[in-house]
Amino acid sequence: MSDYEILDDRFRKLTIGHAKLERLWTGSRWAEGPVYVPAARHLLWSDIPNDRLLRYDEGDGSVSVFETHCNNQNGHTLDHEGRVVACEHRGRRISRLEHDGRWQPLVETVNGKRFNSPNDVVVKSDGTIWFTDPVYGIEGHYEGTVAASEIGGSHVYRFDEATGAVSAVITDLVQPNGLSFSPDEKILYVSDTGASHVPGLPRAIMAYDLAEDGFSARARGVFAECEAGMFDGFRVDQGGNIWASSADSVRVHSPDSTLIGRILVPELVSNVCFGGPSRNRLYITAQTSLYAVYVNAQPAGSGPAVGTISA
Ligand code: MG
Repeated sequence: MSDYEILDDRFRKLTIGHAKLERLWTGSRWAEGPVYVPAARHLLWSDIPNDRLLRYDEGDGSVSVFETHCNNQNGHTLDHEGRVVACEHRGRRISRLEHDGRWQPLVETVNGKRFNSPNDVVVKSDGTIWFTDPVYGIEGHYEGTVAASEIGGSHVYRFDEATGAVSAVITDLVQPNGLSFSPDEKILYVSDTGASHVPGLPRAIMAYDLAEDGFSARARGVFAECEAGMFDGFRVDQGGNIWASSADSVRVHSPDSTLIGRILVPELVSNVCFGGPSRNRLYITAQTSLYAVYVNAQPAGSGPAVGTISA
């Protein structure tokens, strides 16, 4: 049986027909937040209820526990120095793994109020850190700690480490979750999983046009609605295609929003991340397991030189 459902020829060109979906490891409670660390040739990801980070070593295929008691970290990304940036549910903040191995808190409050439970994060080319802040980590003790929302809303924030300024850029979503920029960074895509709280709300990726100054965003509306469960985390490739999690597969939408195909995964998919020396390996976190498949695509922002070794 094929691991792919090809709905449009554009998807066929993004896949390698004989490349199989591999289950690399299983044993987590809720796998999330994959981030590929090129210098270490490893992938880190969260097992949120078990409050730990796991590490997949590309060299020998082994999996080990990278960190425990990490404040129920969720989403991760890499900054321009190759440092891992993390969303902490229980810490209710964004932190970064410094070169010396310390977790350094970066931003914990906005206007004197603590965040809810940052969920997913991206770094823009100008170094600003953008993250979502829904309530999933303060609603129960499974993925965080019960607490009241001090802000009273779930927003998308922009943090500028250079100035210390943090501001809510998007405030019209119910539960903003995954986020990613278009390759030219003119559009910010954000998934809204508000249907987890209010049945009937769109389970959708929304699109926003970013203002030149980077401080405001204008809603374009729904980019794509999810037909199975909800979109959680997602990534954008160099061609602007969106590789998105859903309940039954990784769903790939073209920049014009057409669902062009699916990678079938036998568990609830939470997030994806491009990795490998050529960044053409799609890592997939799904419920209890880590999966991967080689694809004919590379992530936006990775540049043409990825995978080459200079003489
Ligand atoms: Mg998420």
